[in-house]
Order: sequence, then structure tokens, then C-alpha cells
Amino acid sequence: MSRDLSELSIAERRAVILERIAGAAKWARRDATDISFVAVSKQQPDAHIQEALDAGHRVFGENRVQEAQTRWGETFADQRQELELRLIGPLQTNKTLDAVKLFDVIETLDRMKLAGAIVNAAEKTGKMPELFVQVNIGAEDQKSGVLPGELPAFLQSLKTEYDITPSGLMCIPPFHEAPSPHFWVLSDLAAQHGLEKLSMGMSADYATAIKMGATHVRIGSAFLGAR
Ligand SMILES: *Cc1c(COP(=O)(O)O)cnc(C)c1O
Repeated sequence: MSRDLSELSIAERRAVILERIAGAAKWARRDATDISFVAVSKQQPDAHIQEALDAGHRVFGENRVQEAQTRWGETFADQRQELELRLIGPLQTNKTLDAVKLFDVIETLDRMKLAGAIVNAAEKTGKMPELFVQVNIGAEDQKSGVLPGELPAFLQSLKTEYDITPSGLMCIPPFHEAPSPHFWVLSDLAAQHGLEKLSMGMSADYATAIKMGATHVRIGSAFLGAR
């Protein structure tokens, strides 16, 4: 069960979370070094980000391009070279160039038009981010992502039209449902298509996600505090 970490410092929470990640990896007979702890820094005050950096954290996820540009392109620009920055929120086509400039990884590729925009931006900048495909695992109307049934055709089109092979899949399960069945399905889809990486699991369920194969867990509030 998740412990209340709110009384701890950010450095202490980081240690507890890393321990839990190691525990879940051990349970699953996996190597903990294969699991990346992505700190979700959206909407967090600069002081919390600074504490995370001071504690040695180097991998951050953001869900809005503009907010991320301010944080990592201005406020903490001097740290940028040492960091891995991951876009985990929906990307509008008109923000693609900015996103490609800033992020090392875009986890939310979910339509062909966006793939085209990323390829154009990569040609302009000479920099192609690593890509994950977001899957709308619960087939929710309001959520972005490729529907599970449409994933095979989408992956095929990425390959034939742009010669893109994503490195993994990402999902956000429906808020009011148990996440495990959705994690299993995502894990299975990745295996079927030979994709190695899986971004799934957040503050409330990252240990479960790791037991089901997550390689990237996106942890915001449990690490950096309530937003
Ligand atoms: C905000 C966010 C998270 C982190 O959520 P917490 O519950 O605070 O850990 C993870 N993934 C995505 C896509 C998010 O937008």
C-alpha cells in the first residue's frame, strides 16, 4: 500500500520511491536499472524542482510545451544539458517545432498528421526525438491516443509513410477503473509489436505498473507534492 510521503522532504521521497521501484522490480524478477523514474514537474513551484535537481533527479516529464519551455528553457536552462525531458501531454501540430527543439522524447504520438509534423520539425532542427505512441487504452471519448484496435494499422502507416518505428507505448488508464487490466493490455500490445518500452503507472499505481512491465513510470504528486 502506498505510504503517505507528504511529511518527507523531496530528497527523502525520492529515496522511498526508488526503493519501492526496486521492490516491485525484484517481485517481477526484473532489473531495477531497466526502470526509469520520470518526475512529472508540471505545475510545480521552482523550489520543488530545485530540490529534485539537488537530490540528483535528472529525468522529467511535462504535459504542456509552453510551460516546459519556460521551466527548462529559461528558469533551469543551465541544467538542461544534464537532463532527459519527456513530453507526456497531448501535442498540437502548431507546437511541434518547439516540442522537437525542447524534448528528448515525445510520448504522445497519436495521429499521422502529428507524425508528419514531427518529421518536418526533425528535418528543420536536425534532431529527431525518441517517440512513444499513446494508446487510448480505455477507449475514452475525452482522452487522446490511438485506439487499441487501430494500433496495428497506425504502426504500419508510421513505418510505410515516414519510416518511423516508435520505441514504446504509453497510456493513462481510465481514472475510475482498476489500472491493472489496462496495464496488461498495453504490455501485451507492446509485445505483439516488438516494442520494448512501456510508459505506464503514476503516483498511485507505479508499483503495479512495474510488475506488469512498465519501463517508465511517471510520478508527479507523490514525489514533488500535490498540485
Ligand atoms: C500529471 C501526469 C502524471 C503524474 O500524475 P501523478 O498522479 O501526480 O503522479 C503522469 N502522467 C501524465 C500523462 C500526467 O499528465
